[in-house]
Amino acid sequence: MVDANTIMQWLDKVPDPEIPVISLVDLGIVRDIQWQDDTCVVTITPTYSGCPAMYEMEQSIIQTLEQQGVKAQVKTSLSPAWTTDWLSEKGRQALQNYGIAPPKEQSIDISGISRRSGPTVTCPLCHSTQTRVISHFGSTPCKALYRCTQCGEPFDYFKAH
Ligand SMILES: [Zn+2]
Repeated sequence: MVDANTIMQWLDKVPDPEIPVISLVDLGIVRDIQWQDDTCVVTITPTYSGCPAMYEMEQSIIQTLEQQGVKAQVKTSLSPAWTTDWLSEKGRQALQNYGIAPPKEQSIDISGISRRSGPTVTCPLCHSTQTRVISHFGSTPCKALYRCTQCGEPFDYFKAH
């Protein structure tokens, strides 16, 4: 039987279908790994409910483990809900390098949500904080579209939630 750490290392190679530079482990959605007889049961929490990439993620997990000779099953757990706090440091760095500003505030910071101007977001290209929101919805519902007033480039911001 394979231990959970090894399973996690394998899953760390499974990219997020929406943002392929970060793995499902970096995204923080892998919640639990347990063995039921000869089947490895992986519990994941979707980044937000109704996430269209969920099915794809499940299939990737099952395929990856099967390639290692492990029979796998994926369970979905909605509670506690995923928050951007679960993103790993490596994941945040990868987002930044990819040109997506990683979530800034802690999701529990209610004041950040109600503030009309939103959080101070750093431009992933020139690292200027002179940025402003263009659209609260970017290429996917979990991102917002920002523009840097320093270098003029638009970029995605991974919203904290
Ligand atoms: Zn910039």
